[in-house]
Amino acid sequence: MGIDLWVSKKTVDRACLTANDIEPQVSADWQELEKQVVACSLCDLHKTRNKVVFGIGSQSAKIMFIGEAPGANEDLQGEPFVGRAGMLLNSMLQSIGLKRDDVYIANILKCRPPGNRDPQPEEVKLCTPYLQQQIALIQPKILVAVGRIAAQFLLDTAEPMSRLRGQTYQYGQQKTPLLVTYHPAYLLRSPSEKRKAYTDFLIIKNIAEQIVSG
Ligand code: URA
Repeated sequence: MGIDLWVSKKTVDRACLTANDIEPQVSADWQELEKQVVACSLCDLHKTRNKVVFGIGSQSAKIMFIGEAPGANEDLQGEPFVGRAGMLLNSMLQSIGLKRDDVYIANILKCRPPGNRDPQPEEVKLCTPYLQQQIALIQPKILVAVGRIAAQFLLDTAEPMSRLRGQTYQYGQQKTPLLVTYHPAYLLRSPSEKRKAYTDFLIIKNIAEQIVSG
């Protein structure tokens, strides 16, 4: 009849949309942001998750640790880095006089990829605004990328871990110091590397002390 039907993007079947079409409007309020993430259904991971893993720790933490994505234990408990890898991360924190509550721990993805496969680019793209908002709200003085996937994502590089560790980078407009350390799950498989990870944590401690005293 010559009438064009105008269809709002929001009413289009989500299955037809790609990450390029959807940008979550993230809240600048911490509680609202958490509610939004818990209710998120932008990618297919929401269909298989048990719990959303928003993040844990102090909202005024000076140090923020960023991992890749929840695993099976995290998906069941709704908390990042629990299970054996989490216990090792806790020990590493303890080795420099920190508790889990002193820092903030989050992941790039808030939902578990089935079978612990690597995050897919679309999932990362859709989830990134949530992590960026967490960083913006916390304003950490130091960021720590935990493992290769987090390091390569935060530094936008494909360099291997062997090249990425042992340097201090600057992240974002705030030029927040960013360090890279091994993923604790890797350390459980390769315990001989724990010494190097301990060195990373000593550097984190040194930078934190410099920031406090400076
Ligand atoms: N691995 C991660 O990268 N994050 C978690 O929360 C658990 C395992």
